[in-house]
Amino acid sequence: MPTIFTKIINKEIPADIVYEDEKCLAFKDINPQAPVHILVIPKTEIRSLADITPEHQELMGYLLCKVTEIAKAQNLKEGYRVIINTESHGGQTVYHLHIHIMGGRQMNWPPG
Ligand code: 5GP
Repeated sequence: MPTIFTKIINKEIPADIVYEDEKCLAFKDINPQAPVHILVIPKTEIRSLADITPEHQELMGYLLCKVTEIAKAQNLKEGYRVIINTESHGGQTVYHLHIHIMGGRQMNWPPG
């Protein structure tokens, strides 16, 4: 099912895009929980990490490499947190696979 992120991919609604190529899009979270809070999404509609199969192996590796590049471009030299909330107990609210990059402040553990 298409979500609001499909509308962002299709430029039907605006987003503050920090990176885009043919496979993925990265944009600022509308409700940031850290000074830097970026979402990296595949352009392919995948519901959640729970739907990943071996056919997605290359794409998932690609997305993680992009996370590193984007974090570097954002100057997150002191580190950052990468989160993939997955389904209901994982706290996922938008059912289009996305990787959170959060940085610019000290993160705590354990998360809530
Ligand atoms: P989840 O809770 O599913 O892991 O994360 C979804 C994230 O998407 C939330 O952090 C939320 O603030 C963000 N979000 C939801 N709708 C929009 C939107 O329309 N634009 C942007 N930029 N972020 C959104």
